[in-house]
Amino acid sequence: MLRTHTCHALNSQHLHQNVILCGWVQNIRDKGTILWIDLRDHYGITQLVAEKDKNSVNVIQAIKTLSRETVIQVKGQVIERASKNKNIPTGDIEVSIESINILNHATLLPFPIHDKQAVSESLRMQYRYLDLRRKTLQDYLRLKHQVIQSVHQFLDQHQFLHLETPHLIKSTPEGARDFLVPARQLEEHFYALPQSPQMLKQLLMVAGFDRYYQIAKCFRDEDLRADRQPEFTQIDCEMAFIEQEDILVLFEQLIKTIFQQTKNITLPKFKRMPYTQAIQQYGTDKPDLRWGMPFFDLKQAIPPNDFPLWKNQTHIKGIIVDDLDGMYTRKKIDQLKGALQKFHPVVGSRLVYIKYKKDNTIVSSINRFFTSAQLQAFLQTIQAKPGHLVCILAGDDQPTQDALAMLRQIVIQNKIDAQSLPLQDFIPVWITDFPLLHWDGDVQKYTAMHHPFTAPQLPEEGWGQLDLYPEKVKAQAYDLVINGVEIGGGSIRIHQKQLQEKILQLLGFTPKTMQQQFGFFLNALQYGAPPHGGIAIGLDRLCATMQGTHTIRDFIPFPKNHQGRDVMMEAPSRLDLV
Ligand code: ASP
Repeated sequence: MLRTHTCHALNSQHLHQNVILCGWVQNIRDKGTILWIDLRDHYGITQLVAEKDKNSVNVIQAIKTLSRETVIQVKGQVIERASKNKNIPTGDIEVSIESINILNHATLLPFPIHDKQAVSESLRMQYRYLDLRRKTLQDYLRLKHQVIQSVHQFLDQHQFLHLETPHLIKSTPEGARDFLVPARQLEEHFYALPQSPQMLKQLLMVAGFDRYYQIAKCFRDEDLRADRQPEFTQIDCEMAFIEQEDILVLFEQLIKTIFQQTKNITLPKFKRMPYTQAIQQYGTDKPDLRWGMPFFDLKQAIPPNDFPLWKNQTHIKGIIVDDLDGMYTRKKIDQLKGALQKFHPVVGSRLVYIKYKKDNTIVSSINRFFTSAQLQAFLQTIQAKPGHLVCILAGDDQPTQDALAMLRQIVIQNKIDAQSLPLQDFIPVWITDFPLLHWDGDVQKYTAMHHPFTAPQLPEEGWGQLDLYPEKVKAQAYDLVINGVEIGGGSIRIHQKQLQEKILQLLGFTPKTMQQQFGFFLNALQYGAPPHGGIAIGLDRLCATMQGTHTIRDFIPFPKNHQGRDVMMEAPSRLDLV
């Protein structure tokens, strides 16, 4: 037996026991007559001690040769610590060393293993296996494991079968580029790695499996950000004979169960918000509702006036920002304006502010144009209170909406930086009633808002709407957003061949290209495909959000860097084609 206990296990109940521990030398403190070692393993840290008068000369000598991160086995006796450490479970005891066996010596590391050290990201990525020794990352990956266990348990209890789908497939469109794998036996032929198992999981429904799920790897070749990786994991699900409402209810329950079981957090009831409302009130379909601040519309409320910034503008909208601590000085507001102008020079330059100070006085950038009674009336209309800063933008619909959403985001970031607390920790919301299609001006084509297999909100006799007003048709699609992060999304699918062909045609496919890319799938729909629908939840993103971060690579043991490279293995790399 290499060890009797882990480095997390010992406490005052084990006093005077002889134990054997294994682990890494995290730290050595040499106080002359007494030496301490912090011994670390995956589970925790135990302090080891050796005193010149009490422990053998061999032990003292062995300790002096140890370097950090050397792997050792220690035999000794559990004794009470003189100065206790209440922060760790082993803090009441230490192990008096009787012998040390060096299991593997470590040379000088490129960086020390602890969270506080500022080490460049690229060095951490190059030595990922050392970075992973950090407690934070080990805790994050353990959380991910626990989430997966919770998912397996919940979905198993709800009759889902875990079924595998292949990684070498024909392209499934999810809006990104495919990663391609050359086929050795067929020249100029390629497999695509799945952007998601979308068509395959639908085919499993055609095959008669009632409920499918998979902890599925997905591959998307797209620009990377902190919350994106080229390969990531989804909790991918599909159900037959199901309606949107059933899916929203069941998956609300799943997410609540995950939070409860792994973090002991009770989530509030999930909100529901149609897409149009989200855009009108927050300028985004991923609103972070923890901070309030919905947009207000002044267009109707303002008195007739020749104020040049607002005259003839189709949209006059704003937000009310809490400024109880007076953070928004003139300089700070100018910075906000600068940031907005960089984003949209015209709309940004129109930023108007009204500061309703705590002493009830009003300072604003539009004093010259409005009487103070008019300003008071504005403030009343929008229900602003003393301690509020009101920011207003005006212009065309889209840019005003986008600029205001950006302003709201900057204000939220300022709040986060100032460590001001959100109204609530987690606010999940289902965004529903998305448009089915989106007109892409660049390529002069409709693209699917969700994906081409999503069913429209139309009864069969209404399919003609698709020809008449395609952009007005809504989808039976839904996204789950928590704290401004899109955690997942799904839809009820098209299960009739004729409708699927119609949608593909709207998306610009000719009968020939449709056949080439989706022939097998269209074919399957004519052999009794049941009504079905599903959802996929981004596992890495869910974990990151639960942990209050956006950095999903911390939840992936071996992630790619921001250029999509694995700098540890040096992948991608040139092939030696011998
Ligand atoms: N396949 C979709 C995605 O990966 C999810 C779904 O519709 O189930 O986003």
